[in-house]
Amino acid sequence: MDNYFRYDEWKIIEDGFDPEKNQITESIMSLGNGHMGLRGNFEEGYSGESLQGTYIAGVYYPDKTRVGWWKIGYPEYYAKVLNATNFIGIKVKINGKKLDLAKMDVEQFKRILNMKKGYLDREFVIKDFQGRKTKVKARRFLSSVDREIAVVTYSLKPLNHNAKVELTPFLDGTITNEDANYDEVFWDEIEKNADKYKAYLNMRTKKSDFHVSTAMKFELNKNPDKIETFQKEKYVENKVNLMINENEEITINKYIAVTTNRDYDDKNLVQESLDRVSYAYNKGVEQLFDEHIQRWQEHWDESDIEINGDVAAQQGIRFNIFQLNQTYTGHDPRLNIGPKGFTGEKYGGSTYWDTEAFCFPFYLNTTDDSIARNLLLYRYNHLEKAIDNADKLDLDGALYPMVTMNGEECHNEWEITFEEIHRNAAIAYAIYNYVNNTGDKSYLADYGFEVITQIARFWADRVNYNPRKNKYMILGVTGPNEYENNVHNNWYTNRMAAWTLGYALEVKEYLFKNNKICHDELVEKLGLKEKEIDKWQDIKENMYYPYVDSLEVFEQQDGYMDKELKTRADLDKNDLPLNQNWSWDRILRSCYVKQADVLQGLYFLGDEYDQDTKKRNFDFYEPKTVHESSLSPCIYSIIASEIGYKERAYELYLRTARLDLENYNNDTEDGLHITSMAGTWMAIVQGFAGMRVKDDKLSFSPYLPAEWDDYSFKINFRNRILTIQVFEDKVKITKEKGKEIAIIINEDEFTLTNKPLTVNLSK
Ligand code: BGC
Repeated sequence: MDNYFRYDEWKIIEDGFDPEKNQITESIMSLGNGHMGLRGNFEEGYSGESLQGTYIAGVYYPDKTRVGWWKIGYPEYYAKVLNATNFIGIKVKINGKKLDLAKMDVEQFKRILNMKKGYLDREFVIKDFQGRKTKVKARRFLSSVDREIAVVTYSLKPLNHNAKVELTPFLDGTITNEDANYDEVFWDEIEKNADKYKAYLNMRTKKSDFHVSTAMKFELNKNPDKIETFQKEKYVENKVNLMINENEEITINKYIAVTTNRDYDDKNLVQESLDRVSYAYNKGVEQLFDEHIQRWQEHWDESDIEINGDVAAQQGIRFNIFQLNQTYTGHDPRLNIGPKGFTGEKYGGSTYWDTEAFCFPFYLNTTDDSIARNLLLYRYNHLEKAIDNADKLDLDGALYPMVTMNGEECHNEWEITFEEIHRNAAIAYAIYNYVNNTGDKSYLADYGFEVITQIARFWADRVNYNPRKNKYMILGVTGPNEYENNVHNNWYTNRMAAWTLGYALEVKEYLFKNNKICHDELVEKLGLKEKEIDKWQDIKENMYYPYVDSLEVFEQQDGYMDKELKTRADLDKNDLPLNQNWSWDRILRSCYVKQADVLQGLYFLGDEYDQDTKKRNFDFYEPKTVHESSLSPCIYSIIASEIGYKERAYELYLRTARLDLENYNNDTEDGLHITSMAGTWMAIVQGFAGMRVKDDKLSFSPYLPAEWDDYSFKINFRNRILTIQVFEDKVKITKEKGKEIAIIINEDEFTLTNKPLTVNLSK
């Protein structure tokens, strides 16, 4: 797939249509605005390979978990993100023939995603049997200002003939999910109507009872000869007939509004969608578009990364930032980030630990604090459900789900839901990360301490004391490396559990000293007893950590060293990826590591380990890691940067940077790897530029990858917007907004005033 999309700094360009790659391109060309998202499908339809995808945030279907032998604690259902009413559709007939790129001669085809301004363009010339050519242009965007609104503009221009044209804008609710079992249908119709120039379709999901009303209104730049309406079950349309002269261009603007009963009363939903669509129609395409691109400019002002000297790298990082900003906007704390965002169905649009462990730093450092805070509130609001979840496993405290839509566990593999309990620590860690970055300690009193306490309680109950070793152990878990199940004492899990207990103690102490009234109220609310606090301390001090004395490395889990120790170099290339070539049994017995595990801990708790420790563990684990999760290379890349393995850091960075654009994992057609895109951002900002926040100060230890001329990025830190430019021999930091601030560069402290700060870098 190398280089299928043309290199460009701000655009993703498909130049010429390759039907074989259509599903991949559809994923790449996805649009989203936090409220809804679309794959890059064709408005006129397409009879070739395609996944028609329209997704509405927070709208899902709880598919029943069915297993013969029910184990207590199993999640009740598996959540699917639902493919919703197709609203971009405009059927086209030219001289009586249906426009379908799978069946016609296409020339000068281009599909272009404009990342700077957030829209999708397509243009081509279609030629029929008689040599009659028609130029087609389509543009669409999902408003980033009025999130319930979408606009499609579609134009036709006969180049060498007068054409009889039929245009049929429609709303189609007869959709199924690609991942539905036995073509099960998840939607029922509630009501619909089609009038001239407007229509609506109100649909309801089965079981979960989400109502989604989609309204459309359209305008043409020429009066039609005839306009008819038509409706059938779950479908409404307007059919417009008109004649177009040679070289005359007709354009249809289709305005769409999508409202859901997540935001409005069921009974007002249709009216709300009609009001929203009229509002859009009255504003008009131009104004909606101007406001939309203005908002995108603001996104870029806050979060852009510029790389000079490598267009492919530039395009790659902007693509990732673009998709992250499309997926999550922080406008609604009930929403979160699915591993595929709005670009496909795999992983069900649910929330994973990916949010806290990988995505959180991006939003934390590129937008104002309220966005990251909303990500934390999402978990706070699910605390009761996390307590129920722990209770189902007969445990105290809170166990956050590994996969969720609404706070309930909604995945159905026991080794993930029962065992991958390490996710709990990532949620506590995100609170630490937020407070450390923003300095907003009020969060701890208002929300954070409750979450941290309940997570600490869970760990305190989940450990077991081993009197023979006089240590606490955590048995029967799956670590981040999912190529091991039911292991004892996964180093990462034990370490992060002990860290959480320590953090809980620290926060309690902080509240005691600084906000005694609140401390006492919380202690009472949570029923915290001295005995419990003592136990946290005891576990923290006496946690067991597997260790390989001879190599001075942390052992991934008990017994890891009993395995046949091999490296990637011992594998035949036909073995890779292991998960597609080896039996699960063989994978579990092998020493191969799916993704950063011990190294994930060294990343989170970086301050606690010296360079030599990081180096030894990197040298031991990296050659055994197959990076079969897209979340893996970024963590290794950051550590490689830290320990001075610059070339390796760059190689690992490359694996994430253009993962989807080059379809490295051969699965981009299922959707994009949204959460790993944040890892790419981290590999630059925390890896190459070495950004950290310590004792309330922002610090950098930057270097320039040999392949680049220079790079720069934006950071939103404590009400300042900073631009950091890294050259081979110097770093320049400019304050775009906010008061002066102390900055540490390679351990020296500087004050950044209104004048840019330039510091030489030693080689
Ligand atoms: C990874 C998990 C991750 C999930 C969703 C899996 O392949 O192993 O760590 O949470 O994908 O991205």
